[in-house]
Amino acid sequence: MSDAAFDFDLFVIGAGSGGVRASRMAAAYGARVGVCESAALGGTCVNVGCVPKKLMVYGAHFHDEWRDATGFGWRVDPPTFDWATLIANKDREIARLNGIYERLLVDRGVRIVRGHGVIEGPNRVTVTSEAGERTTFTAKNILIAVGGKPSRPQIPGGEHVLVSDDVFHLAAMPRRILIVGGGYIAVEFAGVFAGFGSIVTQIHRGPLFLRGFDRDVRVHLEQEMRKRGIDLRFRRSLARVEELGGGVLQAHLDDGSTIEVDAVLAAIGREPRTSGLGLETAGIEADKKGAIRVNRRFRTSVPSIYAIGDVIDRIQLTPVALSEGMIVAGNLFGGQRGAADYDNVPSAVFSSPPIGSVGLTEEQARAEVGAVDCYMSTFRSLKLTMTDRTERTLMKLVVDRASQRVLGVHMVGADAGEIVQGFAVALKCGATKAQFDATIGIHPTSAEEFVTMRERCPEPDHDLHVAHEEAVRDRRVVYHRWQGDDD
Ligand code: FAD
Ligand code: NDP
Repeated sequence: MSDAAFDFDLFVIGAGSGGVRASRMAAAYGARVGVCESAALGGTCVNVGCVPKKLMVYGAHFHDEWRDATGFGWRVDPPTFDWATLIANKDREIARLNGIYERLLVDRGVRIVRGHGVIEGPNRVTVTSEAGERTTFTAKNILIAVGGKPSRPQIPGGEHVLVSDDVFHLAAMPRRILIVGGGYIAVEFAGVFAGFGSIVTQIHRGPLFLRGFDRDVRVHLEQEMRKRGIDLRFRRSLARVEELGGGVLQAHLDDGSTIEVDAVLAAIGREPRTSGLGLETAGIEADKKGAIRVNRRFRTSVPSIYAIGDVIDRIQLTPVALSEGMIVAGNLFGGQRGAADYDNVPSAVFSSPPIGSVGLTEEQARAEVGAVDCYMSTFRSLKLTMTDRTERTLMKLVVDRASQRVLGVHMVGADAGEIVQGFAVALKCGATKAQFDATIGIHPTSAEEFVTMRERCPEPDHDLHVAHEEAVRDRRVVYHRWQGDDD
């Protein structure tokens, strides 16, 4: 079949972070592109992820700002908070972004097809519209960018449990909330709801939350969250949920204790949205979780079909999906030979206070290179010295002792994500500790601490064996070592 005989050069399933970027880039290279989307344009990040979450994080932080303001002489009436206004304004902003995404695609000449796509073969996708109308398209290449969905706990009363998608549309703010999980979403929403004034309990099945992050960072955040009144309970699981009537729920934990709340939110990971997608029909290999297997150029086991983003379950972050989408478009239509690069992917957890992190944790570095030098500083930021808040900032550098290359930069404190983004460039360039030291600081900032740390930390006294086990289990190390497979 000649290229012109196909309806499209590229047909993308899913107009989320990765799908939209791949579609736009492919069209910019001159390809004929179609993209189908069964929900709102922009995907998880725009509609029920990064963007509305960050708006809620901003909203919740006013709690601190009002309180801090009094230390600077401001007198404010006790502030009140209206959940309905927050949700309405958030919805308005998301609708605006949906329109921008549509324009970005249409202006590039991408054809948007509304409906649910199913793969019928190596070059065929059938899209079913909401009205039940089915249209089949042929394409020389197909890109699967369908993302994931929140996992739901399989427990008695699980139907009463919310997942992150639900939180963005709650009719009222829960006065008391139980959050289950110890990952990004659980700690972020614990901070959000506590900021808005809810009574928050967070349980996590492991000994400490945020597995995969530096241990000092995790312990520091634990202390700061407890200071904010969040009731953190580790080594606890949710056994069942009972409805007591009047919107009240009784959560039963595995230690026999119960908690009465108005909402239970499970944030226990996400699963690839691949069921019913036609993977078996087309012969596309997936793992036990349903995540699509791809090589380092994102080609699946079917040579004309590619997959990117959360559906391949490597690193579930928007900038990673964007980068993967650009690689596929560049390789197919831009004459490039790009491949996955998961070294030094920075990330932020928008907890309260937030975490910024890039590179290896101390535990991972010890597992990878052996001898490391660590530099760490904790301090009360200048702004807080005028207030009654006792929050402390933590900053940490992990350095390879032999080469003196900086392997990890970690921070817990205000603007951690903004600060660490800049240092991620330095790590990507292979900066050494001496180069950090030779950089002049910007004064007075918190960030300057990263270029003025001179005192090495003593060797750790915590159980390095356990930390090492965790580091080896952690997939961030797996991808650091990941070599990829054939093209
Ligand atoms: P998605 O963005 O999920 O897009 C997939 C699209 O495909 C969706 O629009 C879906 O409707 C559509 N679709 C699915 N199946 C079909 C089908 N068969 N036919 C047609 N359309 C289909 N990442 C960050 O980097 N920073 C953050 O702060 C951050 N915060 C987050 C907060 C939350 C609460 C969540 C849940 C995630 C967050 N993430 C964050 C992760 C980020 O949202 C994802 O990594 C990113 O959206 C993945 O992009 P994607 O293109 O793979 O999939
Ligand atoms: P994560 O994978 O980050 O965390 C899942 C958590 O749930 C872990 O603490 C895990 O524990 C626990 N868990 C897993 N299964 C169970 C179970 N059956 N019962 C109880 N606990 C369980 O997932 P999230 O849902 O928090 O977020 C999904 C992804 O979205 C993140 O990994 C991240 O990539 C992305 N995201 C990014 C954000 C950002 O960039 N700021 C914000 C939000 C999401 P254990 O550690 O023991 O496995």
